Amino acid sequence: MQSPTHNSLLGLTLQELTELVLKQNQPAYRAQQLFDALYRQRAEQLNHIFTLPREYRAQLGEQGWGVGLPRITRKFESRDGTVRYLVEMADGETVETVWMPEGDDGESGDGSEAGDEIESGMAAARRRATICVSSQVGCAVNCRFCLTALLGVKRNLEAGEIVGQVVAVLREQKVEPPTQRINLVFMGMGEPFLNYENFMKAVRLLVDGVGIPASRMTVSTAGIVPRIHDFGREAVRPKLAISLNGSNDELRSAVMPLNRKWNLSDLMQAAREFPLRARERLTFEYVLLAGVNDAPEQAREVSELVRGMRAKVNLIALNPGPELPYQTPEQERVLHFQRILVASGIPAFIRRPRGRDIFAACGQLKRTIDVAPGEVEDSG
Ligand code: SF4
Repeated sequence: MQSPTHNSLLGLTLQELTELVLKQNQPAYRAQQLFDALYRQRAEQLNHIFTLPREYRAQLGEQGWGVGLPRITRKFESRDGTVRYLVEMADGETVETVWMPEGDDGESGDGSEAGDEIESGMAAARRRATICVSSQVGCAVNCRFCLTALLGVKRNLEAGEIVGQVVAVLREQKVEPPTQRINLVFMGMGEPFLNYENFMKAVRLLVDGVGIPASRMTVSTAGIVPRIHDFGREAVRPKLAISLNGSNDELRSAVMPLNRKWNLSDLMQAAREFPLRARERLTFEYVLLAGVNDAPEQAREVSELVRGMRAKVNLIALNPGPELPYQTPEQERVLHFQRILVASGIPAFIRRPRGRDIFAACGQLKRTIDVAPGEVEDSG
């Protein structure tokens, strides 16, 4: 895996910025000015940071420092308002970041209570949205129902590149601070728990810098068990969603080969031990694949797995895609699966697919620019 070669300011913490400015014989308060400019004001270039003296901006530039904001190079707009952005990093690698306006059908991205609050006023409504963020270029996990898996993994994203996607999309969507109404889901390209340090650093910067509360963030993991334990010990952390997708080991290993490394008993033990906060629930995601994992018997197995936990299940009917060996189940089959879970006392929700027509829905993030309909403009 290669790393970007630019000296990006985006991605530095306040402490790291303080060390930098002190080394350059600048007063310590310059660090806060930089921090605010990068994360709150979303500066695109050093020259736009007018709180800094011109000479200091020039000095930073001469030393090879730049803002390091990733560039939106293409965007695809769906009929339902979802926008899929192709975001380019300094080394030319691209990931996809998705903007879903007005939450996710009342589920605020992950079905949490965050979206249940009553709010009024058009301004507030306009600011309500969920951004789906990528954590790696491609993905190594190889879930069989996922288009991103077909790319393999090219490299991890740096913390600044993860934060940068959010900053770039907030800029593009002209979202004015405060950003408390923005939900983030780390469910784009990549497995965040295989890029754990950068992911967690990005979370802290998004909270402290960009101003998005951690309670409005959800990270989804395919089941990297040791990192689930680490994640539970974090002082500041998003909510946790676990991709289940199989109700027994045989089935789950067929759909998610990762299950051979960390099987269901390891995974469910980690889930049961996960320290939930007051009013917090775990989410299990279950992609329904016609004739594979969508039978009533499998719904009963899922309820056995989840029984007794403070958790809910999000059901997602497979988003069809080229090159995938699975079909989308009938709506009635999805409803029946849900009814079985609900009857056993497990909250279960059917996720409305977003941006299906532009390949922006779950498991569909892949650079499909050759085939993607709905492109509206090149903004880069
Ligand atoms: S579903 Fe997520 S973890 Fe699985 S291959 Fe796709 S991007 Fe990776």
